[in-house]
Amino acid sequence: MKVESYTSRSCRFTKLRRNRTKMGEREIPTFSLLRKFMTKQIVFVDMDGVLADFDGAISKAMVDPPEMFVPGFYKNLKVMPGAYRGIAELLSLEHISLYVGSKPTTGNLFSTIEKYEWIAVNFPRLLKRIVLVCDKSLLRGDFLIDDDKDRWAHKFKGEFIHFDRLNSANSWKNIVCKFKGE
Ligand SMILES: [Mg+2]
Repeated sequence: MKVESYTSRSCRFTKLRRNRTKMGEREIPTFSLLRKFMTKQIVFVDMDGVLADFDGAISKAMVDPPEMFVPGFYKNLKVMPGAYRGIAELLSLEHISLYVGSKPTTGNLFSTIEKYEWIAVNFPRLLKRIVLVCDKSLLRGDFLIDDDKDRWAHKFKGEFIHFDRLNSANSWKNIVCKFKGE
């Protein structure tokens, strides 16, 4: 790995500053914008049990409840308490880049399009930020906010943030505080 001396970095920075002055004050963001994008952290947020109230739409808690295989199930889920505000707060933070990271139900192929429809209705600002994936270990990011600790905590390469879906409003509040550094 090439080790860069402080002097060479300083020189480059001085050169950038000189160019900036030449171009006028309006060009100042060139360097600072570059730095801002380079330091953004990628945060994935799960859908079922974090954004969408999966548990509220099933009659009995069990693995693979039959309801989830019925067309229309994912489209009609309610929003989890605290999620609207939590997402709005996270989207307002400049140091993070927020994406939805969700696994579609392969036994219900309608889930794929319905997840898109649901985000379009409830969180339209995230519509172009959806990553549907069969295995969340493939997600490349700094954080994953997810309620399924057993399944993904050891697989995700970044920091796993467990979301307590039984205490949704509070979980959202804690997550926002974490990313705001409060
Ligand atoms: Mg989930």
